[in-house]
Amino acid sequence: IERTLSIIKPDATKRNLTGKINAKFEEAGLRIVAQKRIHLSAKQAGQFYAEHAERGFYGELCEFMASEPVVVQVLEGEGAILKNREVMGATNPANAAEGTIRKEFALSVGENSVHGSDSPESAAREISFYFSGLELV
Ligand code: ATP
Ligand code: MG
Repeated sequence: IERTLSIIKPDATKRNLTGKINAKFEEAGLRIVAQKRIHLSAKQAGQFYAEHAERGFYGELCEFMASEPVVVQVLEGEGAILKNREVMGATNPANAAEGTIRKEFALSVGENSVHGSDSPESAAREISFYFSGLELV
């Protein structure tokens, strides 16, 4: 059984959408096995998104992720990494399929409500970035 790291981003926590987004995960068969609300510093957001350091939107992305609290969570299920990305929808909400989180809730390509790990390697790194072994059962 697979696990993936999910983040409910500032645009969504600000609009009080955590429960509605979590319902989408659960309806898709993903189980929330760990969850907490944190407020990242811009430096911590930068470390988390280090792979995007050379992209033009990196500064904006880090500032956005540090602008309000986020909810970080570990989702578990069969094929959880891909399943989560299906439920999230395309990065740009204009391209997201009907019924996906980003189609329903995202405001723009930057303020797109959720993050999900994109591979087993990034899932392992991202889960350990936010959660200790003691927090995961
Ligand atoms: P995430 O990694 O957050 O799950 P993703 O894998 O769909 O999203 P990435 O290409 O990894 O997309 O980009 C990471 C994040 O950077 C996006 O979710 C979005 O918030 C932001 N981003 C991506 N492209 C742009 C852009 N052109 N302008 C502004 N922000 C962007
Ligand atoms: Mg990504």
